[in-house]
Amino acid sequence: MTDRSFLPFAQPEIGDDEIAEVVDTLRSGWVTTGPKAKRFEADFAAFLGEPGLHCVAVNSATAGLHLALEALGIGPGDEVITTTHTFTATAEVVRYLGADVKLVDIDPATLNIDPAAVEAAIGPRTKAVIPVHFAGLAADMPRLLDIAARHGLKVVEDAAHALPTTCGGQLVGALASDATVFSFYANKTITTGEGGMLVTRDAALAARARVMRLHGISRDAFDRFTAKTPGWAYEIVAPGFKYNLTDIAAALGIHQLKKAHAFQQRRAAIAARYDEAFATLPLLVPPAPPPGELHAWHLYTVRLAVDAGIARDDFIERLFAAGIGCSVHYIPLHLHPYWRDRYRLDPAMFPASQRAYERLVSLPIYTRMGDADVGRVIAAVRGALGVA
Ligand SMILES: *Cc1c(COP(=O)(O)O)cnc(C)c1O
Repeated sequence: MTDRSFLPFAQPEIGDDEIAEVVDTLRSGWVTTGPKAKRFEADFAAFLGEPGLHCVAVNSATAGLHLALEALGIGPGDEVITTTHTFTATAEVVRYLGADVKLVDIDPATLNIDPAAVEAAIGPRTKAVIPVHFAGLAADMPRLLDIAARHGLKVVEDAAHALPTTCGGQLVGALASDATVFSFYANKTITTGEGGMLVTRDAALAARARVMRLHGISRDAFDRFTAKTPGWAYEIVAPGFKYNLTDIAAALGIHQLKKAHAFQQRRAAIAARYDEAFATLPLLVPPAPPPGELHAWHLYTVRLAVDAGIARDDFIERLFAAGIGCSVHYIPLHLHPYWRDRYRLDPAMFPASQRAYERLVSLPIYTRMGDADVGRVIAAVRGALGVA
């Protein structure tokens, strides 16, 4: 009998440990930023395993990217380079600060930002570059860090897909960039519902981000109300933001983080099954990580071959008709009215991203999928392609 229920594109895996920790938080009397957010930050630093890392918990990756660029002094007149093949959050934070975005094309093999395109785009106003580890495969960080060092640019990694991902055997978050930002949005590899983590080796950057994540107050609420000195005194040193992570969310994160490696293994196993099943189909499967490296497998994206005999939109429609949720990552920024019109962008300026976009489909890949679910996706893909 066929299973007619709909298989969602993504679903979080929340266990009893997470639920018990949230209940404990609710009963504790401290629901906003407090001891659990602090513990989550300490656990995150321990997870990355490198001494000297500062972790700043925030209520989204978007907030973390904004805080990182603000702390690096990005502002009006500056330009920041990033990939067109990303979610708008990567680029919009540059505009929050009144700086300009310079979008560049991707490496067609990895769909990650093309280091040669980055170098070619550097101008007198360029201050920073934001690589995205697309789908959970590390961008070419050695080359990007080298380019940035030679041109005096800051590097802020958008690691929304990259927990856990390694590059040169080191976890993303512990590389030599100025800051790295993770997302714990509902569909990411670990989730707090909404949340993010800014990681940096730069103590001054971390201190600035801590102040700016909570209204520009010189001490956070927990310290103010529990310090031994009377807690009423504080100073406003800047017009800050409201970007703090609640203890309710951090309670989820503490337990999700413990499972991050097990989650990655399940995702990698699903990716391996897809790779094998699709090897003989007219599909380009996503690139494998270099030997010995971790791929977070936040996304599993296939590209329809030119001879697949079906257009991407029709392929997606057939998968939905078969009860399989899927998506497209991404509609590149150069196609969205805001970015296109502000910077007079044209698809011809981004041939690799454009060509990939026209053939891309993201298939379900998450830990709650059973082996039968994976089999259903494979069967639906074969059916959509007209393969018996
Ligand atoms: C999800 C995502 C973000 C934004 O994360 P939030 O935590 O929702 O703010 C940024 N960049 C990329 C590439 C993402 O996928």
